[in-house]
Amino acid sequence: MSFDYDLFVIGGGSGGVRAARVAAGETGAKVALAEEDRYGGTCVIRGCVPKKLMVFASEYSGMVEDAQAYGWDIQAGDFSWDAFKGKLHAELDRLEGIYRNLLKNSGVESFDQRAKLVDAHTVELNDGTRKTAKHILIATGGRPTVPNFPGSDLAITSNEIFHLEKLPESILIVGGGYIASEFAGIMNGLGVKTTQFYRGAQILRGFDDEARGLVSEEMCQNGIDVRLGTNVLEMRKEGDKIWVKATNGEERLFDVVMYATGRVANADDLGLENIGIERGRKGQIIVDEYSQTGVPSVYAIGDVTDRVNLTPVAIREGMAFVETVFKGNPTKVDHELIPTAIFTQPEFGTVGLSEEEAAEQEPIEVYATSFKPMQQSFAGRAARVLMKLIVSQKTRKVLGCHIVAPGAGEMIQLAGIAVKMGATKEDFDRTVAVHPTMSEELVTLKTPVRTA
Ligand code: NDP
Repeated sequence: MSFDYDLFVIGGGSGGVRAARVAAGETGAKVALAEEDRYGGTCVIRGCVPKKLMVFASEYSGMVEDAQAYGWDIQAGDFSWDAFKGKLHAELDRLEGIYRNLLKNSGVESFDQRAKLVDAHTVELNDGTRKTAKHILIATGGRPTVPNFPGSDLAITSNEIFHLEKLPESILIVGGGYIASEFAGIMNGLGVKTTQFYRGAQILRGFDDEARGLVSEEMCQNGIDVRLGTNVLEMRKEGDKIWVKATNGEERLFDVVMYATGRVANADDLGLENIGIERGRKGQIIVDEYSQTGVPSVYAIGDVTDRVNLTPVAIREGMAFVETVFKGNPTKVDHELIPTAIFTQPEFGTVGLSEEEAAEQEPIEVYATSFKPMQQSFAGRAARVLMKLIVSQKTRKVLGCHIVAPGAGEMIQLAGIAVKMGATKEDFDRTVAVHPTMSEELVTLKTPVRTA
């Protein structure tokens, strides 16, 4: 049987674009890709990239004070949201152009339309055109979800935050995950009076307790009103403000309320039910370790499969798919020991097991140090950082590394190599310190602070 294409990719985000261009560019496969929105997906258009640029923008607020403490005679001016927003969106346009060109230059044919599956080898575009392909790859990502409660339609999500008409005077951010905690820092840094509600006992559930405790403490020190054990009961419009009633009985007005209470897979109306593709409890597409669905010609990668929802993971899954299907080299995606960073202020970089997870698994030693770093301390800041290693008593391997510090994202990428290689505590100790740095503490931790 002959097909229009060897591969049809649905979704032009990080995972889909990578798989399409590598399949076309490196294996000569005939590839098409359909994208209904902007190329680059969540990461480039409404996620990692604009978020990180906003983190950078927000960090300048403290720099003037620090520079003054170092002897500079400078004064802070005002932040212009309009000026920043203009540059931000121009940058996103530029990046989207790059994504489009990458596809074009690798010979991928793209369709700026929604596509859905008709059968195991056929997709239908929005205009009714049908295309056949030997393989179909679903890489449609995810989207934010807001729970249903009275007034929930007044909330914005991370999709809208980059498009605010003006910077609000006050914002309520609901949620305690990556997105809520990162945006609390961003908004606070930009001068917005920021409140964060989290329903549980401590933000960043699932991460190392000591590390998330420090992040939360520092966020409060920085001026964010972090309310733990608190959720929204009800909201309504009051003039140009939003009236919010909280579970603790408090009633307050905010200019903007942003919900960051998780994301769901974009797997509805894709025709999956027609061909019997299984979906999980959260609506995600169920795949095996080669990203193959129960229908052999259909694969899925990235957030739509809700495995580890991070851009570099989606890219890895896309590459493994191409290896498996187009290069005849069956390749499973390795989801073990993925380093990650949460761009809170301070940043939090982590790889491997938290102290709590490791202690459940086996006897461990915990090495940790928390201190005021030289640069901030000289400027009179009280901010502390944390360097922490979790070590197996039996194998001496470093099971987890947790860093809360400015630049922790950069540090954890490198520490991640050692941990992934299976480095022991003694390997860390054999490495000579780079002095004076914050991360040198990772190789000079002499005695465990506790065992468990
Ligand atoms: P998360 O799943 O990380 O966090 C959701 C948060 O919302 C949790 O604190 C959760 O609480 C809370 N929540 C869930 N439902 C409700 C509800 N009904 N009412 C109140 N609170 C609720 O989601 P995010 O949206 O923050 O991020 C999604 C994913 O995106 C992340 O998991 C991550 O994979 C990725 N991401 C990665 C980034 C990075 O690498 N730096 C940055 C941004 C996103 P509870 O803990 O109690 O369940």
